[in-house]
Order: sequence, then C-alpha cells, then structure tokens
Amino acid sequence: KSGDGMNIADLRDRILNQERRALARAITLVESAREDHRAQAAELLDGLRGAGRQALRIGLSGTPGVGKSTFIESFGMMLTAQGLRVAVLAVDPSSARSGGSILGDKTRMERLSRDKNAFIRPSPSQTHLGGVARRTREAVALCEAAGFDVVLIETVGVGQSETVVAEMSDLFLLLLAPAGGDELQGVKRGIMEMADVILVNKADGDLKPTAMRTCADYAGALRLLRKRPQDPEGFPKAMTVSALEEDGLAQAWEEMQSLTGWRKENGHWEGRRAHQAQYWFHEELRQALLARLETKEAQRLVAAAGAEVAAGDMAPTAAAEKVLGALGITQT
Ligand code: GDP
Repeated sequence: KSGDGMNIADLRDRILNQERRALARAITLVESAREDHRAQAAELLDGLRGAGRQALRIGLSGTPGVGKSTFIESFGMMLTAQGLRVAVLAVDPSSARSGGSILGDKTRMERLSRDKNAFIRPSPSQTHLGGVARRTREAVALCEAAGFDVVLIETVGVGQSETVVAEMSDLFLLLLAPAGGDELQGVKRGIMEMADVILVNKADGDLKPTAMRTCADYAGALRLLRKRPQDPEGFPKAMTVSALEEDGLAQAWEEMQSLTGWRKENGHWEGRRAHQAQYWFHEELRQALLARLETKEAQRLVAAAGAEVAAGDMAPTAAAEKVLGALGITQT
C-alpha cells in the first residue's frame, strides 16, 4: 500500500480482470514522473509480466491529415465487430516539444471511443521524446496484460517518433495520401524501410485513380529495397484503402495476419521482440547515464573540468575520465 492508498496487488488483479478503470489508472501511474510512482509502476509491471498475455502491436504513422484517426476508427470498429478488443495509444512528438498536441484529441474517433471493446488513450505530455517512449511502452505492456488483442500505436510522421513506435511494434504501417510522383521523394528512405505495409488512403471517388497510381509507385519503390530476413515473399507491401468508405480494410487485416503468422512460424516474431527488449534496455541505460550528468553535482564537476580543459591544464579525455570517476561511473 502506498501513501495515496494505491494497492498495487489489487490494481494488478483488476487489470488481469480486464477492468478498464484499473487500466486507465495504471497508465496514469506509469506516466507519473514522481519517484514513488515510478517505484510502484515498476512493481506493477513486474507483477504483470508473468501473465504471459500478448497482443498484436501495430504501429501506425502518417502526416497530419492523411487519415490516421479515420483509419483507426474504421479499422478498430471492424476488429471489435469481430469480437477483438482494441487499444489505441499515441506517441505525439509535438506534445513533447510544445505541450500542444496533434494527436490524442478526444473529439477524434468518437464511435470507437464509445465501443466497450475499445480503449483509447491520448499521448502523455512529456518534456522529451525519450520520456514519452518509456510511458507508451509501459502502457502497451499494461494493455497487453489487460487482455487486449490488438494495440494500435499511432504517431505523426515527424522526427524520431517513427523509430520509437517501430521499436515497440510487431508490425509497422505507413499511411500515405494519394499524390503525384514527387511525393514519393518526400518519404524518407529510412521510414520506407521500417514499413511492413504501406497503405495509400483515400482511394475513393475522384482520388481513386491517383491513389492507385501512387500505390503502384510505392510498390515499385519497395521492390528496390533490399530483402529483409523477417519478410516472406511479397512483403513489404503497398495497398490502397479508403478509411472513409471502409474499403480495403479487411484485405489489409488479412495481409497483417498472414505476415504475423509467417513471422511466428519462422521465429521472427519472438526474435523481433527480443531485439526490441534489448534496444529499450540500451535506451534506458543511455537515458539514465545522461540523467546522471544533469545533477547539480555533475554540472559543477563538468564546469570545473571544462575550465581546466579550456585553460590547457588537462586533456579532454583525461577530464572526461576524471568527471566519470568522481561520479562513480568509472574507476580512476
Ligand atoms: P489525421 O490527421 O491523419 O488523423 O487525419 P484525419 O483522420 O483527421 O483525416 C483528415 C481528413 O481526411 C478528414 O477530413 C477526413 O474526413 C479525410 N479522410 C480520411 N480518410 C479518408 C478517406 O479514406 N477518403 C477520403 N476521401 N477522405 C478521407
């Protein structure tokens, strides 16, 4: 039991019992930066790890206006109609920078948010993307433990946020708009390389022919990428969809399932998760070391050693060693 009367064992049981309020409360707990909350969150996550529940984690990226929320709503409703439980989380780099957000606006996905088999959580506001990444990663684990079948993790196509989302997803979808040939160059190669399925949205009405041309362009571009061991024949793949008219969504889901099935059979599913766990371990280590340098004591040592280096009294390498030694990070 903690100061605010939070019983972690009880919270754990209620999450395993699929209680949404308990899940929401637990996510608030992992989003908290308070020291005692961090400790409770760690205890909770540890207690849930043994449950062994796995969801399909689907990352989804696309620029503002491409139709992400429309897609998530249509796609999510299709899945819940099949009896699947769907959670939606967001990594919003704009909220990390300015406190304002592009994603997670509550008026979006109105139908889905009323669906009892769906759970929607906006992006946590944090001061840096690393913080958002950790919170979201832990929220994914909580949703899995709460028995969700699919966890959708949404982000906008700017900066590092795609990498963050791809590193916590089993599948990565890139949502694109129909456009002329020059748009193709606008998608960075690195982002194309992360995609398992490219969905060209808005393939309806007047936009349909353009969408089909765009899709063919991307299919061509994907064929030029080097083959990845975690892909069966035909992947990564480009398809057209209309989130608005709910067209092509069932086919897209079939492709995702077939890719997932293949990866599970061939060990790539577990392999990717193991690799991701290691990635996040390294990230946490890096963040923790950087945090050590931000303490007052460290700043003082850094300033003093920096002055000596500037005066030519000490070599940069020796100065770095001295500071690390004084902080107890290396032996001197
Ligand atoms: P987001 O910013 O990526 O979340 O995009 P939204 O889902 O808010 O959609 C932006 C605009 O595109 C809205 O006006 C949607 O109605 C429209 N839109 C989304 N999906 C489709 C689609 O499949 N077809 C058409 N024609 N419009 C769409």
